[in-house]
Amino acid sequence: ALERYASIRDKPAVTRCGATIKMMMNAGLMADLPSLPSSGAEGVGLFRTELQFLVRNQMPRRSELSAIYARVIDAARGMPVVFRTLDIGSDKVLAYMKPNDEPNPAMGWRAIRVGLDKPGVLRMQLQALMRAANGRPLYVMFPFVAQYEEYTRARAEVNKALERERRLGHPLPSKIEVGAMLETPSLGFAPRKFFEEVDFISIGGNDLKQFFFAADRENERVRRRYDTLNVSFLSFLEQIVERCTDTNTPVSFCGEDAGRPVEALCLAAIGLRSLSMRPASIGPVKSLLRRSNLEDLRKVIADTRHRGAMSVRPAVMDWLKEQ
Ligand code: PEP
Ligand code: MG
Repeated sequence: ALERYASIRDKPAVTRCGATIKMMMNAGLMADLPSLPSSGAEGVGLFRTELQFLVRNQMPRRSELSAIYARVIDAARGMPVVFRTLDIGSDKVLAYMKPNDEPNPAMGWRAIRVGLDKPGVLRMQLQALMRAANGRPLYVMFPFVAQYEEYTRARAEVNKALERERRLGHPLPSKIEVGAMLETPSLGFAPRKFFEEVDFISIGGNDLKQFFFAADRENERVRRRYDTLNVSFLSFLEQIVERCTDTNTPVSFCGEDAGRPVEALCLAAIGLRSLSMRPASIGPVKSLLRRSNLEDLRKVIADTRHRGAMSVRPAVMDWLKEQ
C-alpha cells in the first residue's frame, strides 16, 4: 500500500469524473515540515500556532515567532501556508496566563474572542507573521469566528498591523489573504456580505460538528454518537459550500474528517475541492479519490436522503464495495 501511495505522490487528486481536489496538510510543529515535500501536499491548509505558545513557560517573543514562521514559509517553497492565529482559551491553558475558571471552556473565552478583547498577543502575532513573510504572500485565518462583525474587527487588526509595519519601514507581504474558520454553525448563516468580504473560508469540522450536534468532541460517551456522514450535517456542509460558490469564496475543509478516506470522498461529493489533513492521510485519501466517480456518489447520497436514512454511510460503504 505504501508503494501505491508513493507512486501517486506527485500526481493530482483527480477523480474518475474529472474533478480535481486540492490536497493540503495540517501542521503545527517544526517536526511536521519535512512531511511537506514527502507527503505530496500542495501546501499547508492549517498551521495551528498554539504549540509554540504552549511549550514555553513564558510568552514567546515576536522575534522568536517570526523566525519560526519564516522557517515554515521557507519549507513550503512557494506553496501557500495558512497560519491560524492563536486558538487559546481555558481548554488550552498557558502557564503564563491567568487561568480562568470557566464552566464550558470550549464555548468560553477562547480564540478570536480573546484576540479581540485583549488584542496585544494577536497584534504581536500578526506582526511576527508579516515579518516572516518578508515580501512574500501571507495567508492568515482567524479561529472560531462566530459572526461577521468579529471577522471585520479582526481584519481591521490586520490592516492596522500592515500600516504599522509600513511606518516602520519593514517590507510588507507581497499580498495578504485574510480568512475565517467556519466552526460555529452561526457563521454558516452569516449575511451574504460576510461571504463576499472574506478572502477564504476553512471549515473546522471538529468544532463545527460538536456545536452542530451539541456533542462534546472530548466526551467519549457522546463523541461518536453522531456520524459525520449524518444527512443533516452533510446538508449543512453542502449549504455552506453553495454559499461560498455563489460568492466565489474559496472554501476548504480542515477538520480531522478530511483525512478519513470515506468522509473525504463524501466531502468531495458535496462540492468541496480543497481538503487539509494530517500528512499521513494524503496518500490514502488521494488514492480513493482517484478511483472514484463523484457523480455516481452524489446519486447514492441523494437517494439515501430521499429514503430518510439517518446517515449516508451504509449506502456509501455498499457502493464502495461494488466498485
Ligand atoms: C476544527 O475545529 O476542525 C479545527 C481544525 O481546529 P481544532 O481541531 O484545532 O479546534
Ligand atoms: Mg477548532
